[in-house]
Formats: sequence, structure tokens, C-alpha cells
Amino acid sequence: MNDTKTNRAPLGIRHGDTVKVMSGRSKGKTGKVLSVNPVKRTVTVERANIIKKHTRPNPSKNIRGGILDREGPIQISNVMLVCPGCGKHTRAGHTTLPDGAKVRVCRRCNQTFEN
Ligand SMILES: [Zn+2]
Repeated sequence: MNDTKTNRAPLGIRHGDTVKVMSGRSKGKTGKVLSVNPVKRTVTVERANIIKKHTRPNPSKNIRGGILDREGPIQISNVMLVCPGCGKHTRAGHTTLPDGAKVRVCRRCNQTFEN
């Protein structure tokens, strides 16, 4: 399991995107993508899939021990992008602008996504 090339297949979802959770414990929740793990193909989504994280105190990093609420990873296949234009969950298409930039677009309303 060290096939970086196939793991770099486009995920369609990037850090900062708004996504909707389509299945699992946090089904129906919408939030911002906090991080993407392209190798495991998971994302963490703001306030979704909250897990209890048991942490050890680490005084040098000023971390207190105990049980914290943290966002847990969700499989990318279980979330969908939410379009900033039409506000619906959607799939992203790709298009090239006249200036040559490649952008993602909403398949429903053709609104382009930032970045
Ligand atoms: Zn749209």
C-alpha cells in the first residue's frame, strides 16, 4: 500500500469547501472541510462526526490531558460538495476558463467554485 499515484486521484473536495454529510452518524450535517487526507480518502468536517478523543497531557505543547470532543474522519464517498451558488449538494465538474485556469463548477447551476 504505497501507491501514491493512484492515491492522488482527484478528490473533488478541498480544504475550506462546504460539504454535506450524506451517510453515517452525522448524516445531513453541513460544514466546512477542516482537513483532507488524500491517502485515506477521508475528510474532517466542522462539527460532524464528533468523537471523544482521549489525550495525554503534554506540558511542552500546553495540551491538557483528558477527553476532548474532536471532529473524526469521514470517508470522502460519504460527503458531497455544497454549491455556493445554488446551495444544493452537487458534484463538481471541471472546466477551463478563457484565461486557461482550470476550475471546478457546479453541475447543477454552473457556478464556479473558488480556488
Ligand atoms: Zn450550484
